[in-house]
Amino acid sequence: MRELLDRLEAKWDSDDYRMVRFTNAPKQVNHSWAANLIASVPPKQVTKRVVWCDGGSGPEGHPRVYINLDKPGDHSCGYCGLRFEKTNNH
Ligand SMILES: [Zn+2]
Repeated sequence: MRELLDRLEAKWDSDDYRMVRFTNAPKQVNHSWAANLIASVPPKQVTKRVVWCDGGSGPEGHPRVYINLDKPGDHSCGYCGLRFEKTNNH
């Protein structure tokens, strides 16, 4: 994960021509990476073998996808990264 974030952060050398934009203010980098934010959401515990995720419906959501939870562990949505885990209490 850290390696991925390093690549996304776009570290520029001090003589990079794009640094001309930052002559009167330092370059600012957003450290609230979406990958970190979605990883901080705990997996949703469900009792069904198959769940669907649409990312919250409406204009902020994504097409509904069905996720099979037969294999142990948590399973993440391919669109938004929300995780689901089947509990064995049925
Ligand atoms: Zn989703």
